[in-house]
Amino acid sequence: MSIRIDAATGQKLFNTRAAKASDRIAGKGYSIIKDESLKTLPELPPGATFNAQEQARYREFKETRRGAADYMAMEGDYAKYLNDVYSADPVPRDALDDKCEILVVGAGFAGLLLWYRLRDAGFTDVRFCEKGGDVGGTWYWNRYPGIACDVEAYSYLPLLEEMGYVPSMKFASGFEILEYCQNMAQKFGFYDHCLFHTTVEETRWDETSGRWTVITNRGDRMRARIVMLANGILTTPKLARINGMDKFQGEAFHTSRWNYDVDLAGKRVGIIGTGATAVQAIPELARVVGELHVFQRTPSSIDVRDQRATTEEEIRTWAQEPGWARARRARFSKISAGRTAIQANDDYLAGKTSDFKERKQYERDLSMEELIQKQLDSNFRIMEQIRARVDAIVKDPETAAALKPYYPYGCKRPTFHDEFLPTFNLPHVHLVDTAPLGVTQINEQGVVHNGVEYPLDVLIYATGFQWMATSTFNMITGREGKTLKQKWETEGTKTFLGLHSQGFPNLFIVAGPQGGGGSFNFTDAIEAHSDYLIWLLKTMRDSNARIVDITPESETAYADHCRKADIATAPLRDCLSYYNGHGDAKPGSLAYYGGNRWHKFRAEAQASLAPYCFS
Ligand SMILES: Cc1cc2nc3c(=O)[nH]c(=O)nc-3n(C[C@H](O)[C@H](O)[C@H](O)COP(=O)(O)OP(=O)(O)OC[C@H]3O[C@@H](n4cnc5c(N)ncnc54)[C@H](O)[C@@H]3O)c2cc1C
Repeated sequence: MSIRIDAATGQKLFNTRAAKASDRIAGKGYSIIKDESLKTLPELPPGATFNAQEQARYREFKETRRGAADYMAMEGDYAKYLNDVYSADPVPRDALDDKCEILVVGAGFAGLLLWYRLRDAGFTDVRFCEKGGDVGGTWYWNRYPGIACDVEAYSYLPLLEEMGYVPSMKFASGFEILEYCQNMAQKFGFYDHCLFHTTVEETRWDETSGRWTVITNRGDRMRARIVMLANGILTTPKLARINGMDKFQGEAFHTSRWNYDVDLAGKRVGIIGTGATAVQAIPELARVVGELHVFQRTPSSIDVRDQRATTEEEIRTWAQEPGWARARRARFSKISAGRTAIQANDDYLAGKTSDFKERKQYERDLSMEELIQKQLDSNFRIMEQIRARVDAIVKDPETAAALKPYYPYGCKRPTFHDEFLPTFNLPHVHLVDTAPLGVTQINEQGVVHNGVEYPLDVLIYATGFQWMATSTFNMITGREGKTLKQKWETEGTKTFLGLHSQGFPNLFIVAGPQGGGGSFNFTDAIEAHSDYLIWLLKTMRDSNARIVDITPESETAYADHCRKADIATAPLRDCLSYYNGHGDAKPGSLAYYGGNRWHKFRAEAQASLAPYCFS
């Protein structure tokens, strides 16, 4: 029975979790590396300063690539690349035409955490819609070989104490994280509340009933009082637009839908892209394929990983320390520098030392510009060490030169690996440097670059994701028939705390554009956002308010602050990256870089209630 009625509450409960597609889908993440030379950055090369010549080199690196990122959605003939390859067919069920109190889109970390907190606060008439066949979100859709988290798992995995769980490795594999999500869903009764293989296509506000009508690809028309968008930031895979890609006769797939039915052993395999996913997958691919061609347009920064297993001592200590993971995550969130955060110093995170670095004391207060210049200088020095690491490991000088990135650290998503660079010393692994414009031609046999044909049996697209497409991921129509897309296109991205947008009452965006409150650890943001939402719902419950919107003034002030924060910190993002819409994003339209002012805005709002219009 896919839909049943709970005798106690009269609510509908669901049984729609799809079966696993195949037992072949399995893998591991980072290996533990013993060779110390692979786990340390070389000394800073002498004389490394971010002088005019180096700045010009960064600029040229960026400008020659401008316009090269021509991505396309997976539509029409390419829609097949979006098929859910991880689950059996959807569980049949009747379409729903009914009411519910709260409807949440997405069953990733955010959806799971929201459910835990909502249930805890006594909100039980909650329904989730999830495109995939099971929970996990990012960790459901991404199962490529080598997948692991880059933020240490002890701080990244939500609800570790509540689950009584300790990850097996410091950087847990994606497969372990997926299983953890499934266990969370099982333990907290999430599965009863989720409609899997159900994509929300339209969300429309009805002023008369004070409800949202949510329409799905399964023919549902559900009328929810509250809608929460927990639909993720890196959900929708994209393809680079390449001439002739439809002609290729071999097997092809995107990394976010890894096809384990294709046996790669001994095959000629090509992978397009060298971003965070490819960096994790390439060393694993090299272990099985006959020949590997890596087509690179822009190199990633490859930092040290230093993977390790969780120690017996840690497991013993944490078992006696209630709140250990929360305390660790709180320490993690204090680290303001991306690289330091993601390196995750154990002594500091375990509370054995009080700070993660010696803080520099300046003789006088520095202006914002001066501080940014200091950051750019130290950023350059780290990048020099990262470039020196390439020279120290990769034997072929031409390959090494092509693997060196020239942009500020963290401008593109930083990556970490101790096996990626040595992979290029293997005789069957070849880097094809397609800078600055990338691969432009594919034919029946494989990839063609600079007149050379690279025949392939299998072509893997590691071409990434659409980033934060909140306003467009489904048709969201608010008050007076205006869509969120129209609003943001005409007025610029405008939210309060990233969570509300005026004219879209009772609609809350988790971790969307301008959604601060977090750190390099995404779980920080979704914890802050879910805490805030529970406070808001309880406030409404206590005062019998049914609808909340936001005042235009509060939204304008917050959006303006985000815009200014983006402008002030723009020099640190001077490259072409999905983070900044490949250089085209308007300030304040994507993630919110300003950091800790989110908490201030939130605290003031909670104290005064001034930004809210309750009815
Ligand atoms: C490979 C990879 C590694 C990462 N590693 C890290 C890391 O180490 N540390 C870190 O902090 N972050 C990392 N991230 C970012 C990661 O996305 C977040 O940490 C987090 O998992 C996001 O959780 P979420 O629930 O918000 O979104 P998601 O996990 O993306 O879940 C959103 C869900 O919403 C569903 N959905 C979307 N639209 C619809 C719709 N219209 N109808 C129904 N369902 C819909 C999707 O199918 C998806 O399952 C990584 C991302 C990727 C891709």
